[in-house]
This record gives sequence, structure tokens and C-alpha cells, in this order.
Amino acid sequence: MTCKECQQMIPDFLNNYLKPKELKRFIFHVRACSQCYEELETYVIVSLATQVFDENADVSYDIKDLLEKDLNEKENQLRRRKHRIIFLVVFILTFLILDVILTIHWFNA
Ligand SMILES: [Zn+2]
Repeated sequence: MTCKECQQMIPDFLNNYLKPKELKRFIFHVRACSQCYEELETYVIVSLATQVFDENADVSYDIKDLLEKDLNEKENQLRRRKHRIIFLVVFILTFLILDVILTIHWFNA
């Protein structure tokens, strides 16, 4: 992924619009590229500033901390999703093998 591609994906990332594959590539790039990380940080600051302005709230945010939490949370989601897929594949395989064994057993009986 190029920095341009990555930075174009930032709004979608913040709105949770990225597909799992895109999200994975995005996080991978942002983790490795300080330029895009800073760009993302700027977006988060602007987005939060707008929110605070809208709500007229007197809240201070630790941007770095917040961004890290968001990135970690999304990485965890990807990991959980991967685990679910592995579980499903194992489950289906077990079912298929069981089916084959039962079929063989049926014909031999
Ligand atoms: Zn970059």
C-alpha cells in the first residue's frame, strides 16, 4: 500500500467503513509508516475537536492514547474474526469427515 492510498482510507477507517482485508493492510501500513500515523493522528484530532465543539463539552483527550486504543481494538477485532473463521472451517471439516465415516459405515453395514 502506498502512503497516498493509506491516507485516502483514513476517513473510512475512522467511520469503520473498511473491509477486514483493507483494515488489516491499513493498520499494517500505519504501524510501519510514521508519516501516515501522523496524518491519521491529525484526522483524529480534527474529528475530536469537531465533536467537542459540537457538544460544547469541556473534555480533554489524550489523542495518542485514544488512537492506540482504537488501533489495538481494531487489530483485536481482526484477530477474533480470524479465529472465528478458523473455528468454522474446523467445524465444517469435522462435520464432513464425520459424514464420510458414516457414509462408509452405512455402505459396509
Ligand atoms: Zn505511509
